Amino acid sequence: MIDFSKYTDGLAPVIIQDAATQQVLMLGFMNAEALEKTKKEGKVTFFSRNKQRLWTKGETSNNFLLVKEILEDCDADTLLIKAEPQGPTCHTGDISCFGKANDRFSLQELEKVIRDRRNNPTEKSYTASLFAKGINKIAQKVGEEAVEIVIEAKDDNKDLFLGEAADLLFHYLVLLQAKGFELNDVLEVLAARHKK
Ligand code: AMP
Ligand code: ZN
Ligand code: ZN
Ligand code: ZN
Repeated sequence: MIDFSKYTDGLAPVIIQDAATQQVLMLGFMNAEALEKTKKEGKVTFFSRNKQRLWTKGETSNNFLLVKEILEDCDADTLLIKAEPQGPTCHTGDISCFGKANDRFSLQELEKVIRDRRNNPTEKSYTASLFAKGINKIAQKVGEEAVEIVIEAKDDNKDLFLGEAADLLFHYLVLLQAKGFELNDVLEVLAARHKK
């Protein structure tokens, strides 16, 4: 339980992190009522110090922050909320309030692009054409890229090796999605092994 009385204004700092990419999106403040509403509705509601009222992030932009997990820090005076942002979190249009310098292209980001190409296929999308060919063809591509990285591993051309490493990773992620899985499913298997 967060102890809001630790703060003279009753406002505890809340760090918002993207649940999928781990990117820090913004910092806001909550009072007890804002936290209550956030838990009840599953959307992040702050107490805005500017507006001096409860402020549901996304109330005008529709860029809501859907709550995935709420964590308290060691001495229960700060919150970390892992959320799924429904659009750019910053009012400037940036993904994070800490600017583009805080952007990292992640495998999760790449997975989002792959998912989008699958759901909204276009003529010129190579990814969409892979899904159209089906699982066997995609699996075969993974095999080909695996052979290609093996070949480049024997050489010492950095660009060719990294290029094949990227090809393999990309096609591997496409195969996971074609099979109905995502990277997190694989990470769970690895984490379980790691615990042993
Ligand atoms: P929104 O909650 O996204 O509908 O935005 C409503 C208003 O809140 C904006 O016009 C900004 O003034 C402010 N605002 C939105 N996002 C942020 C943010 N990440 N940090 C600070 N203020 C924001
Ligand atoms: Zn603390
Ligand atoms: Zn901002
Ligand atoms: Zn290749």
